[in-house]
Amino acid sequence: MTEAERPDIIDVDDRVRAGSTSQIQDMPAYREHWARAEADPGGYWLAQAKQRVHWRKPPTRGLEGDFWSVRDSPIAWFGDGELNVSESCLDRHLERRGDKTAILWEGDEPSEVRKLSYSQLHAEVCRCANALAELGLKKGERAIIYMGMVPEAAIAMLACARLGAVHSVVFGGFSAEAVRDRVRDCGASIVITQDVGKRGGKNIPLKRTVDAALEGEHGVEKVLVYQRDAEAPAELVSMQDGRDLWWHDTVDKASETHEATTCGAEDPLFILYTSGSTGRPKGLVHTCAGYLTWTAYTHAVTFDLREDDVYACAADIGWVTGHSYIVYGPLCNGATSVIFESIPTYPDVDRYWDMVARHQITVFYTAPTAIRTLAAHGPEPVRKHDLSSLRVLGTVGEPIDPVAWQWYYEVVGQERCAVVDTWWQTETGGHCITPIAPATPEKPGSATLPLPGILPTLVDDDARALIGPGQGRLCLEHPWPGIARTVWGDHERYVSTYFTMFEGRYFTGDGCRRDADGYYWITGRVDDVLNVSGHRMGTAEFESALIAIDELAEAAVVGYPHPVKGQGVHAYVVLQPGSDDRAEAAKNAHRAVRASIGAHARIDRLQFVPGLPKTRSGKCMRRILRKIAEGEPDKLGDVSTLADPSVVEVIVRGAELFS
Ligand code: ATP
Ligand code: MG
Repeated sequence: MTEAERPDIIDVDDRVRAGSTSQIQDMPAYREHWARAEADPGGYWLAQAKQRVHWRKPPTRGLEGDFWSVRDSPIAWFGDGELNVSESCLDRHLERRGDKTAILWEGDEPSEVRKLSYSQLHAEVCRCANALAELGLKKGERAIIYMGMVPEAAIAMLACARLGAVHSVVFGGFSAEAVRDRVRDCGASIVITQDVGKRGGKNIPLKRTVDAALEGEHGVEKVLVYQRDAEAPAELVSMQDGRDLWWHDTVDKASETHEATTCGAEDPLFILYTSGSTGRPKGLVHTCAGYLTWTAYTHAVTFDLREDDVYACAADIGWVTGHSYIVYGPLCNGATSVIFESIPTYPDVDRYWDMVARHQITVFYTAPTAIRTLAAHGPEPVRKHDLSSLRVLGTVGEPIDPVAWQWYYEVVGQERCAVVDTWWQTETGGHCITPIAPATPEKPGSATLPLPGILPTLVDDDARALIGPGQGRLCLEHPWPGIARTVWGDHERYVSTYFTMFEGRYFTGDGCRRDADGYYWITGRVDDVLNVSGHRMGTAEFESALIAIDELAEAAVVGYPHPVKGQGVHAYVVLQPGSDDRAEAAKNAHRAVRASIGAHARIDRLQFVPGLPKTRSGKCMRRILRKIAEGEPDKLGDVSTLADPSVVEVIVRGAELFS
């Protein structure tokens, strides 16, 4: 009997009628699925892909390729299948769920609510696809989406998918420079944006930023602009003749029927740039079928999705969490997905809980930084609201400390809800190590156990795989359907970043501990990337912005533990010989970081130092700076390889004065 014929794998829609779209309700089922996916990955995932995805031509092939040969032959899943992702997310639901709410939008002001049913969303996506086609966007071409949290952002993504075009969403907080880099790197021919974004009662000048990004050389021919606020200040929104078009003049007037383009399983669906710890951002490429299978599966299994769920992920669409768990996973599963435009503290610190009660939200997914921020206000703002609708609580983005976990579980979840601490990455496409809501016994602070298809290994410094409990670098052993296939335009970078550190294994960049029960505890990153309030920024991005200003000669940036933001940013800077105006340098430093990375980038501590601790070969020893920033100058370890060890004492003294 083939995997696809097994009687215990029943059609997902039957499960839906039975209440849950997950097939894993307890630990024996979990173990059995995990073992099956390990023993026969091709068969297991082919069966899942056939059940969860709507195919034009169903695949017969499972996995092709492996982590050993990934340099020469990229990983492929379901390679001979054909589909259009937007049909899985829209068309196939029309018959049974046409009137069901697909997107429940809550605007910046709590009074602004919009609901789009599956048939309305389908019509909007068709209109948008027709309009984009009219503007010249073709299969395989790239579109940058630089928008706030409006339904039109999801509509634009799905419209690109419908045309077989490749979208690249850029987080709406990024600067013009960041947008320009991404426009150029992916060779976008069109930018989709909006006049202004709304966040916490403020206007975010999205269109103006796009205008600045498009100064200089690029291949963008058209800019499509959604009007969020007809009364937005005129100086924020100027339209360029011939290039810029209003959404309401084009999309709204287009036909609501559109024949979706047939795509190959391995055609690119989108490019998403990570923060990039070294200079140029990495554009990770996700392809149609494997990504969709993985997001649909994990969304259903991790959250134990039910047909009548009101599911809310509070992430931004500009991050992978928004792609996988606001748009693609939930819509593929026919769920009601909330899009939230505002911030957790606007108009007040009870915004989330007010929203949960008003919409009867059943599954709520956010980041530890938001939980810590809200926990600081105590239980009262939560207790004011009736949260009895909640069933599952999720977190993602960074390790959640046990204190914040307990608060989430006790105060928000009233000790009744499952808490799923989901570990995954842009590269993995979806959840990898996470509790399964109804099945996995939790431990506060642990991402618990790997999903079926995920084979974690902890590797020590000598590249030996650890057996049993221990701590090491987290690697994954075998391709799963959701893994990113390449870095856009630079496959070698993909190979060297993820597959050369430990040959034949995908290296995640994270450190991890495994306990005696086989549970995984992510310890953080082993590289030099900062995670500030859930925003990931490379230290190198800060440093290059800092040394670009006239007054500064050198800079080294490290993170230190911050009670609310997770990590704070500590910048060590060296003045340019001859300049001595520290106040002026500091002002320019803050401005430069903001301009080159974005408004979310802030230096918490700026320390002027006479020099950086460098090795004789000229490499900055960051571990020393990290220890000093962490307030542990007595634990510097061996400093004998430094060119000038005396500089360390001066830095330590300066740090004491500083804090
Ligand atoms: P870049 O690759 O440019 O450095 P990034 O890795 O910071 O970008 P993401 O892919 O969004 O961007 O983040 C993935 C990382 O976030 C993981 O590698 C891990 O360090 C952290 N992370 C995410 N979820 C969890 C979690 N539940 N527990 C612990 N860490 C998490
Ligand atoms: Mg990463």
